[in-house]
Amino acid sequence: MRLSGIVFLAIGAVVAIASFLLSAQGQKMKLFMFVGIAMAVFGAIRFYVDRTVQPEQVDERRAKMASDLPHVHRPLSEIPRVCSTCHTKNNPKANFCGHCGHKL
Ligand SMILES: [Zn+2]
Repeated sequence: MRLSGIVFLAIGAVVAIASFLLSAQGQKMKLFMFVGIAMAVFGAIRFYVDRTVQPEQVDERRAKMASDLPHVHRPLSEIPRVCSTCHTKNNPKANFCGHCGHKL
């Protein structure tokens, strides 16, 4: 399971806040503060993208599955006739293979 954006957001926020509190002691922590902010922003974007993009990906997967099952989802006239000899996909209306001439 990959890390979700909310994890980056939380870690980034903690790093940013901790660095901000520690930066009172010197300038060195400012870099960490920027890193933490960057991480939090990255996490927020990722969290947003994960929420918005994933349903589309599921739809794509469903569409792919549907196209993998031509017998169920496509009318018979659209199914390419695959040659039993050379496995070439031919026009659905073809009677002979366009590649090797074998009767379909
Ligand atoms: Zn053929």
